[in-house]
Amino acid sequence: MEIQQLKQLAYKIEDEMKREFEEVSDFILNNPELGGKEYISSEYLTHKIKEYGFEITYPYLGIETAFRAELGDDEGPTICFLSEYDALPGYGQNNDEVAHACGHNWIAASTLGACVVLSKLKQHFKGKIVLMGTPAEETIGYKYDLVENGAFNDIDIAFQMHIESENNINCKSLAMDSIEFEFTGVASHAASHPHKGINALDSVNLMFAGVNALRQHVKSDVRIHGIITNGGQAANIVPEKAVCQYYIRATERKYLEEVTQKVINCAKGASLMTGAKLSYKNFENPFDNIINVKTLQDITKKNLQEVGIVDFLEGADGPTGSTDIGNVSQVCPTMYTELKLDVSPMVYVHDKEFLKYLDTPSAYDILHKSIKSMVTSSLEIYLDRELLKKIKAEF
Ligand SMILES: [Zn+2]
Ligand SMILES: [Zn+2]
Repeated sequence: MEIQQLKQLAYKIEDEMKREFEEVSDFILNNPELGGKEYISSEYLTHKIKEYGFEITYPYLGIETAFRAELGDDEGPTICFLSEYDALPGYGQNNDEVAHACGHNWIAASTLGACVVLSKLKQHFKGKIVLMGTPAEETIGYKYDLVENGAFNDIDIAFQMHIESENNINCKSLAMDSIEFEFTGVASHAASHPHKGINALDSVNLMFAGVNALRQHVKSDVRIHGIITNGGQAANIVPEKAVCQYYIRATERKYLEEVTQKVINCAKGASLMTGAKLSYKNFENPFDNIINVKTLQDITKKNLQEVGIVDFLEGADGPTGSTDIGNVSQVCPTMYTELKLDVSPMVYVHDKEFLKYLDTPSAYDILHKSIKSMVTSSLEIYLDRELLKKIKAEF
């Protein structure tokens, strides 16, 4: 079948299954779970995709709420859809509820939808469809572990779309290190025997001063932000233990490593000044910057235009946050796209307001457009080996 005919068939299948995909989005929305604890969501998604003949590995590579579902053969490209289903803390009346304020329920539905529609067209192409369940994007970032453990070794292309406040096919993200510094001194009475004590909190304060001085001497894309998670127990005791956490970010992993070393040196200097012993570790996985592939962006843009998304953010702003998709994009060509939730006034991910719109016609509308465009972009790659070669060469 010709590609244009096949695309029309894909649209038709998606239209017929609309409500089913919306229900997936709603189910995850109504069962929000924190990163690494997405038991209900991962169970539900694996159960659902199994109904369409996919083979399931769950848990996957030692991660309890990760999974891999696949269908197809080894005679063509392997295309992977990156599912996410973790929610965020701090919502509801008393800020004590977990909620899908980043719309990962929508991601779960769009990636599952794309896999299901492709599975129904499988007789028309060779290759493999993979739905990869990737937990805790907001915190630990398990895509890092999945990459490290070879989950993407056989993947040719990875896709994901995210509901956002702009249509953007040229997304950027910052490489990021998350480091916790722990200083251990000696406790003593702060008034009667201060000379016996070694003040761990002083080390933290001196470290912050060092980092603030460092800010003048780093490139403008660098972001360094920290908090004190333990600053002592009582004001009349010289703090024996003090702990701080830093996120350190930059456009490129290579430069980030230089900056991270300088931040560590600030901690070492502070330790030397007070005598408090220093230890440090990554408290979350390191994230890499997203690598974009022009040909893949062109295909995706064209297929989004074909389903009516035309107003793309041009000359995109500088990079902002960080995501573990960056790590995937370092090992296989990855297409990460943001689609605009068209509401007025505009709402933003992680805001309370955003939650009101996740089960509305505007969210569903872009859900279907995302499924359709990921399916048609994949079909082009499955059917045209030269296209895959071009993407890989560019990558
Ligand atoms: Zn988020
Ligand atoms: Zn998100």
